[in-house]
Amino acid sequence: MILSRDRDDDDMIVQCPNCKRMMIRKGRLIKSAKSLTCEGCGNEIRLTYSYKMAIFENRRPLS
Ligand SMILES: [Zn+2]
Repeated sequence: MILSRDRDDDDMIVQCPNCKRMMIRKGRLIKSAKSLTCEGCGNEIRLTYSYKMAIFENRRPLS
């Protein structure tokens, strides 16, 4: 399964595993980004392919 293009404009929820802060990003940004810096604690969240899949499928991360 690939990251579907029709989710590009959807709001995805990324949760920082460190401080649990929720951040909203567009699907297209999630797909192109390699990492995301938490707005709360500055933690660098690595956006692996499997992590992105979880975001796209569930609209929430694995952990
Ligand atoms: Zn954080």
